[in-house]
Amino acid sequence: MYDVTIIGGGVIGASIARELSKYHGKFLMIEKEKDVALGATKANSGIIHGVYATDHGTLKGELAAKGNPMYQQLNEELNFGYRRTGALVLGFNAEDEKKIRERYHNGKKYGESPEDLQIIGPDKIKELEPHSNPNIKMALYSRNAGVASPYEFTIALVENAMTNGTEVRLGKKVENIQKREGGFLIDAEGEQIKTKYLINAAGLYSDEIAKMTGISNFEIIPRKGQYILFGKDQGHLVNSVIFQVPNAKGKGILVTTTYHGNFMIGPNAEEVDDRTDVSTTKESLRYIIKSARKSIPEFKLNRAITTFSGIRASIRAKDFIIEDDQVKGMVNLIGIDSPGLTAAPAIAKRVTEMLVRQGFTLDEKEDFNGYRAPLVQKKPEDFDGSTEHRDPEKKIICRCESITEEEILESFKRGLPVESIQSLEFRTRAGMGHCQGAYCGSRVRDLIHREYGIPKKRIPRDSHREEKRIQKVDIKEIRKMTE
Ligand SMILES: Cc1cc2nc3c(=O)[nH]c(=O)nc-3n(C[C@H](O)[C@H](O)[C@H](O)COP(=O)(O)OP(=O)(O)OC[C@H]3O[C@@H](n4cnc5c(N)ncnc54)[C@H](O)[C@@H]3O)c2cc1C
Repeated sequence: MYDVTIIGGGVIGASIARELSKYHGKFLMIEKEKDVALGATKANSGIIHGVYATDHGTLKGELAAKGNPMYQQLNEELNFGYRRTGALVLGFNAEDEKKIRERYHNGKKYGESPEDLQIIGPDKIKELEPHSNPNIKMALYSRNAGVASPYEFTIALVENAMTNGTEVRLGKKVENIQKREGGFLIDAEGEQIKTKYLINAAGLYSDEIAKMTGISNFEIIPRKGQYILFGKDQGHLVNSVIFQVPNAKGKGILVTTTYHGNFMIGPNAEEVDDRTDVSTTKESLRYIIKSARKSIPEFKLNRAITTFSGIRASIRAKDFIIEDDQVKGMVNLIGIDSPGLTAAPAIAKRVTEMLVRQGFTLDEKEDFNGYRAPLVQKKPEDFDGSTEHRDPEKKIICRCESITEEEILESFKRGLPVESIQSLEFRTRAGMGHCQGAYCGSRVRDLIHREYGIPKKRIPRDSHREEKRIQKVDIKEIRKMTE
C-alpha cells in the first residue's frame, strides 16, 4: 500500500513528487507515457512569469507569485537551467497604455518594489532591447521574470524524488479508480495499485481521472498554442521576454530566447476538440510571425529550426482549481494552464499542506538529499555561438549543441529510461540544433542500442506510446514564407 500516489508526470506531478520525497512515506508517481514531461510541460513558452502578469486575488496569481521566487534556489539544487531575464510588456498607443497601467497596478498589489516593476519610456526600452520596434511608446518592465527549461526541470525533479525513494511507473495509464475504506484501488492496465491518498495531476485528462471517482463537475477545454523556434544565431535580437499587451485570449504573442539561447516566437490560443492535436498550421504561424515582427522586426525566417505546439488544460472558470473536498483522500488539480510552470513549486507545497488536512502526517527525513548534478555542462556557445573553447579530448556526438558522448552516457545512469530519440534530446539536447539530428542521429541510435539493446531501427523517435504522425508545417515553407 502506497501512502500517496500521484497520477501524471508533468511539471505539476513531478513538483509534488519531489516535495513529498522530503518526508517519510511510500510514494508513487504514475505516468501513461514512456517518459515524463510529455504533456503541456514539454511544449510551452518556458517563462517564469513576473507577478504583474496574473490577476491579483486569483489562486493562479497567489501561487505564481509564490512560485517565481523559488526558482533560483531550485535551480541551484537541481541544475535544470533557469535564467532571470526580466520581461517587457510593450505599448504602442493610448489603448495599450491603459492596459499597461492596469498591469502595473496589478503588480503593485503583490507588493512589487519600484526596482522590480516600472513603466519605462522609449530610451530605456532601446537600451534594454536595441532590436525592438522604434514605434514602441512605453513598456512595463518586470525585473523578476525569467526563462527555464520546463522538461529539464521536470526530469530533474523526478530524478531527485527517485534519489529520495519515490517510485515511478512509466507507460501505465490509469484506467479505473475505486474508492475503498481508507484509500483507493487504482487499475493501471492490469496492474492494481493500492494507495491511501491520491493526487490527480493528469493535466488535460484531469477531468477524466476525476470522473473515475464520481466527480463530474470538471470540464477541460483544450487550448492550443503554436510556436516557431529559431537558431541561437537569432538569440542576440532579444534580451528579455517581450510581450505585447494582453488580450481576451491571454498574454498574446511573445518573443524570447529559450534557456539555451534559441530565439522563439508564439504562442497563439485556439480552442481545439482533439486533446492530442499538436499539429501546426500555416495560417496560425503566419499570424505569429506578423505579431512578433511588431515587437522585434528583424528576425530571419530562414533561420527557423522547427515548429511545435502545446495544449493548455484550460477551464471556463479561468483560474486553477485545487480541491480536496469532493472525495476524501483525493486532491484534484484542474485547469492548470498558464502560469502553471511558474506556480508549480508553490502548487507542490499547497498540495502537501492539503494532504496534512486529509490526515497524512509530514515527518521530515533527516537524510533528504536535495541535490541533483547537472547532466549537460553549460557551454559558452549556448549563449554566444562560438565553438573555439571546445575540448578536443571530448568526443562530440552532436555538433550543433556540442554534446559529448560522456554527457549522453551519463543520462543513461539517472534512473529514468532513455529509450527514444526524444527522451535523449530532452535530457542532453543532442539532435535539437539546427540540423535537427541529421548529423548525430545514427550515433545517438548507436548509443541507445548499446545501452538498452533495442534494435537500432526500432528505437522510437518519440516517447508517446501512441505514436501519431504530427502534422507540422514543413520548415522549408516557413523559411521561404513571404509575409
Ligand atoms: C502553449 C502553452 C504555453 C504555456 N506557457 C507557459 C509559460 O510560459 N509559463 C508558465 O508558467 N506556464 C505556461 N504554460 C502552462 C504550463 O505549461 C502548464 O501549466 C504545465 O505544464 C502543466 O503541467 P501538468 O503537469 O499539470 O500537465 P502535463 O504536463 O500535461 O502533465 C500531465 C501528465 O499526466 C499524464 N496523464 C494523463 N492521463 C493519465 C492517465 N490516465 N494515467 C497516467 N498518466 C496520465 C499525461 O501523460 C501527462 O504527462 C503554458 C502552457 C501551454 C500549453
